[in-house]
Amino acid sequence: MDRSVRGTGKAERTRAEGEPRGAASKPAGSKGTAAKADAGKADAGKADAGKSAAAKAGAAPHATHPAKGGFEKKTIALVYDFDGTLSPKPMQEYGFLPKIGVDPKEFWAESNRLAQEQGADSLITYMHLMYKKAKAAGVRIDREELVALGRSVELYAGVEEWFDAIEDYVKIRAESHGVALRHYLVSSGLTEIVEGTSIYPRFHRVFASEYWFDPYDLPYPKRVITDTGKTQYLFRINKGIEDLGQNINHHMPEGARPIPFSNMIYFGDGDTDVPSMAVMRKNGGHAIAVHPPGKSRAKCVDLFKAGRIDFLAPADYRRGSDLFKRTCLLIDRMLADIRVQEEVWRMGKAVAG
Ligand SMILES: [Mg+2]
Repeated sequence: MDRSVRGTGKAERTRAEGEPRGAASKPAGSKGTAAKADAGKADAGKADAGKSAAAKAGAAPHATHPAKGGFEKKTIALVYDFDGTLSPKPMQEYGFLPKIGVDPKEFWAESNRLAQEQGADSLITYMHLMYKKAKAAGVRIDREELVALGRSVELYAGVEEWFDAIEDYVKIRAESHGVALRHYLVSSGLTEIVEGTSIYPRFHRVFASEYWFDPYDLPYPKRVITDTGKTQYLFRINKGIEDLGQNINHHMPEGARPIPFSNMIYFGDGDTDVPSMAVMRKNGGHAIAVHPPGKSRAKCVDLFKAGRIDFLAPADYRRGSDLFKRTCLLIDRMLADIRVQEEVWRMGKAVAG
């Protein structure tokens, strides 16, 4: 069962490439440090966002790369689901449910039953039920505590080292200067819990469900990211509109989108990822499904047969694993593609005069 919905309450949680680990979790005021560390690599997101408007105005149909200074679609985005993908179990099962003395199996069964009986959204239902149960148990859990509970979330083997390993690979293989790598999390789970995990600072942005703590007696869902809702965040990454206050639905021509789907890989573990995988694949992007090492891969095989994914692999993130190698294969293709497109762009400029 996948309970990962993730909307980043921290709309500000953006880490520039090259920014030191952990810097992103600092308050907005500390951004100066990040900017300094960022020397040499532009914050592609911001730069692209500025560009998009200009690009919209004058891009000729053939000019898919509207940038004036240079070819700029050189950001690769790896997008992850959390529960079952980076972590073996739903994140609430590590700290929260044990703390309030609730059996996970019974909890999810009750939540699903309740949602069905009431015709309620299953994610809103679980977010409500978590706090109803905590209140009944006389346990008060606030935002800070939820973050603290995130420290007990278990990750699959190699996840903590994965980010550096992939970054190293891109650095070695990228023959085109200025290629940047970003990691994004899009989860139905809770922002607060993810914030407490060791890998939180590795993400450029975290989009997950989140609570509103202040105005209510029981925390109230502030953002709920459903399976289909996840796709909105893929388009936000694609269009460079990561500020949740900004509308995502305005038309933006393909050429103006800073991170083409072909530069993206989505990592998921099952049915709840189908809408995201479908969006990726239909738009020229990539998807990989993982399964618990040594356990059934039937779900992933179904996804593969249905053409939802490029690859499947055990959720072993260590360097040299099948997952690592298959991810690197896709990255090789992206890097080659970036070089080809950059050359086309240069030629386009050369013949334009
Ligand atoms: Mg999942």
